[in-house]
Amino acid sequence: MATATQPATDLRRRLEQVVGTDHVRVDAGTLLTYSTDATPLERARPDAVVFPASTAEVAGVLAVASELGVPVVPRGSGTNLSAGTVPVRGGIVLVLTRMNRLLEISPDDLVAVCQPGLRTIELAQAAAAEGLLFPPDPGSHTTASIGGNVAECSGGLRALKYGVTRDYVLGVEAVLATGEVIRSGGRLVKDVAGYDLRRLLCGSEGTLAVMTELTLRLLPAPEASGTGMAYFGDLGDAARAVSRVLRSGVLPVTLEFLDRVCIDAVEGYAQIGLDRSAGALLIFGQDGDPGSIERDMARMAEACEAEGATQVRIAESESEAADVLAARRAVLPALSRLEPLTILEDATVPRSRIAEMVQRIQEIAGRHGLTVGTFGHAGDGNLHPTVVLDPADEAAIGRTHEAFDEIFAIAIEMGGSITGEHGVGLVKLRHLERQLGAEQLALLRRIKRAFDPQGILNPGKLGS
Ligand SMILES: Cc1cc2nc3c(=O)[nH]c(=O)nc-3n(C[C@H](O)[C@H](O)[C@H](O)COP(=O)(O)OP(=O)(O)OC[C@H]3O[C@@H](n4cnc5c(N)ncnc54)[C@H](O)[C@@H]3O)c2cc1C
Repeated sequence: MATATQPATDLRRRLEQVVGTDHVRVDAGTLLTYSTDATPLERARPDAVVFPASTAEVAGVLAVASELGVPVVPRGSGTNLSAGTVPVRGGIVLVLTRMNRLLEISPDDLVAVCQPGLRTIELAQAAAAEGLLFPPDPGSHTTASIGGNVAECSGGLRALKYGVTRDYVLGVEAVLATGEVIRSGGRLVKDVAGYDLRRLLCGSEGTLAVMTELTLRLLPAPEASGTGMAYFGDLGDAARAVSRVLRSGVLPVTLEFLDRVCIDAVEGYAQIGLDRSAGALLIFGQDGDPGSIERDMARMAEACEAEGATQVRIAESESEAADVLAARRAVLPALSRLEPLTILEDATVPRSRIAEMVQRIQEIAGRHGLTVGTFGHAGDGNLHPTVVLDPADEAAIGRTHEAFDEIFAIAIEMGGSITGEHGVGLVKLRHLERQLGAEQLALLRRIKRAFDPQGILNPGKLGS
């Protein structure tokens, strides 16, 4: 006679046949660990966590899941900030970190071929060793995986000049929900045979297929780089400086900003000599040949001064430049120290409207009695308003959600987006229709059904 635990035992046994007993985990500790990702407040328990080592094993797991109708949530390093890997319908969390091999770097074809579990920084370092550059550099690059970067279409500090992850994906090998393996694209720069499925998989958030191998475009590494910083009395001046920089004929590699709350938090955390009295800080940078860097850095400094910068500094050494960039990378850990709970969001507006957007964010936060620090990729119009609060204060959590609802509504009204780089995941699904419209959302769902008719891949997320 079948018992209540029979289906779970069957699932485990079938998965063990595919990946071996050591690579299927159902113990309470593991299930708890894989209930969450880097997104606060969201959690749901999976039934099993599976660690495949090859495309064939991924295909085997998906064939079993498909046959038994069990959800599968692909997962890289779990650093996403939209609850993209929280298994809201239970099932299998498919962790791809064992598939972490760099298969090839080809200086002749300017490509890298790797498995999805390779960490971003490892790819960047291997490329650099060959005099090449892999430009996408999300703040999480030491931990995040390439598969996660592609599935989220991650951005980073260099997106203004170099674009985002999708701009570097030439080819994808992926396993469909049924276990069939497809390859889309390859190592060619030009290839227009058929619909561009590899592009569709960029930003698909684990809902269309599991990517098992990636062929990525590399660039010749720039000879050198320059970094500078400019303080402003208020954010309006900083925003005008952004526009002036972009009109000056310079396309900076980096153009980041921190508001007053972020400057104060970073200085309190890292003590790197930031001016706590400033209203805003712009960090700007360029790479290329030394002559053009000198010219571009001077132009950017002039643009900041012309818009009323109270202080402009160009780093004179690599270590000084590293300190400036470290200030930007320290914002999130610094804000996290202010209160135990940090809710970071990711709205994007046309860059000409950054100052207006930050003012609206401050006004909304003030009205809801919340502390918000805003920082982000000024050159991309991509803002990260971040609320810090006490997790025991349920009323404040409720007000935070209301505040973000208003912030997303304003971003859409301004012609912006509810997410520039962190993905829709679970947390922004309810805002998607407002941005895409009912017709486009319906098309998105039909695409999902074409890839995954049973709806087993990351259910409850995009396409649901
Ligand atoms: C401190 C910090 C800084 C960050 N900075 C940035 C930043 O600057 N820019 C930015 O864009 N993001 C940033 N992020 C967000 C996050 O790091 C990125 O989204 C990252 O690309 C996720 O990679 P991951 O390996 O952790 O993926 P995961 O979190 O494991 O997964 C993310 C999504 O990808 C899917 N997925 C993962 N692997 C595969 C695969 N092989 N096939 C199909 N689907 C897959 C998952 O189902 C999920 O939907 C930051 C996060 C943190 C915590």
